[in-house]
Amino acid sequence: MTIYYDYHIHCDNSPDCHESLDSMCLAACEKGMKEIMFTDHFEFYSTPNRSKIFTMEYLDKCFKRISEARNRYGNDIFIGYGVEFGQPHLQLKEAECILSDYPFDLVLASVHKIDDKELKLLDCRDTANQSLLDRYLDNVYEMVCSCDFDVLAHIDLVKRYFCSAGHSIRIEERPEMVDKILSKLAERKKGLEINTSGLRQGVKEALPGKNIVARFFELGGRIVTFGSDAHVKEDIGADFSAVSDFVPDDYELVSFRKRNISN
Ligand SMILES: [Zn+2]
Ligand SMILES: [Zn+2]
Repeated sequence: MTIYYDYHIHCDNSPDCHESLDSMCLAACEKGMKEIMFTDHFEFYSTPNRSKIFTMEYLDKCFKRISEARNRYGNDIFIGYGVEFGQPHLQLKEAECILSDYPFDLVLASVHKIDDKELKLLDCRDTANQSLLDRYLDNVYEMVCSCDFDVLAHIDLVKRYFCSAGHSIRIEERPEMVDKILSKLAERKKGLEINTSGLRQGVKEALPGKNIVARFFELGGRIVTFGSDAHVKEDIGADFSAVSDFVPDDYELVSFRKRNISN
């Protein structure tokens, strides 16, 4: 299967990305992508109103710029207006308000932080620090149970940081919890993302690996999206050929429009 939809990319709307929206769009066209989804970050915190970055003005700016890009490139490629919510379970009301105010095509849900601290800043060096794995998974499960979203992004992001600390800790070590998360996704008809960014980083694995995707289908999951998590134009669609066999042979790519599957 050729994957020509990249459903997780960033541009210079996101505070951690410096590649311009235009160069991302042009590169995606050059690579023959048919659909791209800009999923710029919006982070939530346990202490409300903490962020000076993630505001309504920020969302307005993102929407305006994506609309302009659609006018420029819309004949050549579908440019999706998405968002990557980080920890939306921490501010459920605020997340709900945002979803009612903006016409997103796709909402990704991610856990990037525990106790408002970036995963990469938490201490993953101590192998005895298994509680970090449990706390991460507890957060993912709570988010998957309580939030409004469409696709769970990089379910095992934490392995990237365990790996860079020299450990091979995987969420597969908690099969019951992984099953609870995947079953809840399937029950709520939410999608699971196959995020290829791990293949370009130290961990050298997709987020998640093939076994977790297979388990998702076993548990009744049906919706999978592919995302490069590109923050630079070169990474758009990167390593999609390495994960195309993660889904059954007869799997058909899904398109999202206004948070509904359109095919
Ligand atoms: Zn993310
Ligand atoms: Zn991302």
